[in-house]
Amino acid sequence: MVVLGDQLDPSYPSAVGLDPDLDAILMMEVRGQSTDPPSHVQRTVLFLSAMRHHAEVLRSDGWRVEYVSLTQSANTHTLDGEIQRAVDRLRPKELCCIQPGSYSVLEEIESACAGAGVPLEIHEDPHFLCTVADFEKWASGRKQLILEYFYREMRRKLGVLVEPDGKPIGGQWNYDKDNRKRFKTAPDPPAIPRFPPDETTAQVIEDVRRVLPDLPGSLEAFAWPVSREQALDALADFIEHRLPKFGDFQDAMWTGETTLYHSLLAPALNMKLLDPREVYQAALDAHESGAAPLNCVEGFVRQIIGWREFIRGVYWTQGPQYEASNALDQTGRLPGFYWDGETDMRCMGEALGSVLDSAYGHHIARLMVTGNFALIAGVDPQAVNDWYRGMYADAVDWVTAPNTLGMAMHADGGIVGTKPYAASGKYIDRMSNYCKGCRYDVKERTGDDACPFNTFYWDFLIRNRETFRPNQRMAMILKNVDRLAPEQVVEITTSAAHRRSEFGI
Ligand SMILES: Cc1cc2nc3c(=O)[nH]c(=O)nc-3n(C[C@H](O)[C@H](O)[C@H](O)COP(=O)(O)OP(=O)(O)OC[C@H]3O[C@@H](n4cnc5c(N)ncnc54)[C@H](O)[C@@H]3O)c2cc1C
Ligand code: SF4
Repeated sequence: MVVLGDQLDPSYPSAVGLDPDLDAILMMEVRGQSTDPPSHVQRTVLFLSAMRHHAEVLRSDGWRVEYVSLTQSANTHTLDGEIQRAVDRLRPKELCCIQPGSYSVLEEIESACAGAGVPLEIHEDPHFLCTVADFEKWASGRKQLILEYFYREMRRKLGVLVEPDGKPIGGQWNYDKDNRKRFKTAPDPPAIPRFPPDETTAQVIEDVRRVLPDLPGSLEAFAWPVSREQALDALADFIEHRLPKFGDFQDAMWTGETTLYHSLLAPALNMKLLDPREVYQAALDAHESGAAPLNCVEGFVRQIIGWREFIRGVYWTQGPQYEASNALDQTGRLPGFYWDGETDMRCMGEALGSVLDSAYGHHIARLMVTGNFALIAGVDPQAVNDWYRGMYADAVDWVTAPNTLGMAMHADGGIVGTKPYAASGKYIDRMSNYCKGCRYDVKERTGDDACPFNTFYWDFLIRNRETFRPNQRMAMILKNVDRLAPEQVVEITTSAAHRRSEFGI
């Protein structure tokens, strides 16, 4: 059985009916997974360390594990190359695998097996709460895929926060209106639990420094959970200390505070060190015992049983061509400051600094700062997707692509979001304290001191107004664009062109 870096649930081999006395597990450290696109050094170390820990767990459970490390001299550095090499060495009768988290990985496994003439069986991933077939059934015949309706069905199906008659506990499906608070003064969130490198991680760090010395990002603050035990500690810590305020400040941002009340559980979930059932159940238990209020628990549960499953359903039902989508025909280059964080825009400096230092950013920083900037500035969505695929510790194609191409870049033409998440500096000013210390003026739309988010926002609307015209949800916004005098339109588009050339877009 091939076990990939994001398939670290120790129950998988038995779940697909393997026998430790007859079958072997193949795990491979593949260099190409860290270089194409370039992967943050913390993301690479996290995956490799978690894999090495997992191999030890499987061995102690009695499995024979064939483990190919990054440093083996014969390592081909590609997934299909390593599978071919293993097939030549081990001569298996057949290979099996849980469904990978990416079309390209699936294709590599299929082509390696076809090339070697070995039959391949792909099993459904039992980790997820909604199968791809069930999502397809739900999606078929719908004009638009609306998360809220999917989420309500999942609540009913799983019996989560619903009364016996199927109505939502507390009378509402959604507490979003309570969950958009901002900080009036500096927040003091609880510290995030840290898991400093153990011996295995230290060895991975040494190997990565030697074999992959040029990866972006910093390793200094590495503190991610790398084993199931650590992931369970991280879950318990979140439930006790941050869940009680998770909902209230879900969308807020503040200088120097990158994690706030978020869980930071996505890497452990996506590597399958945690099961979504135990994660949402822990939140429900906290509500039951009175330790966390309904708006926070509902807000968190919606991310786990709603958004996460919805996004996966979109990825697998849209097909591989989804990853090439570019509905707004954007072609700009990704500015260099995405790689070094060097910019006078305070909001971007904060968001990018967090990513470079810790391979993390919370949802609103990803969507409304780095994503929004790339969208309104006109950057090529594939370049943006590649950056997100590499730079976040939790990045795996099935979840990164719909979030980046769909939600942030509107490159799918409106499958994930019914309207683009485009915003001016006003949104960032409302939800953070960034603008106060910024060199740009958030009240200005054009000119040298104008907030670039304002210039690009209006330019984006002007450029795309006919594309958005049929969208009812854009009608109010487009009315404001239509009111602009011709000389204002020229001023905005000229100002935006200057900024684009200044930023190398
Ligand atoms: C442009 C962009 C790119 C993103 N790329 C990724 C990615 O590569 N990997 C990833 O896991 N998430 C991604 N997300 C979704 C979301 O931002 C992250 O899951 C979240 O910020 C992870 O931090 P956390 O664990 O502290 O999440 P929390 O805020 O604590 O949320 C709890 C959990 O809910 C789940 N979740 C929340 N929102 C989403 C969502 N939109 N899609 C899927 N799961 C969600 C995650 O598992 C997360 O751990 C992206 C969002 C955007 C806008
Ligand atoms: S003024 Fe504009 S660029 Fe500066 S922090 Fe505010 S939104 Fe960001």
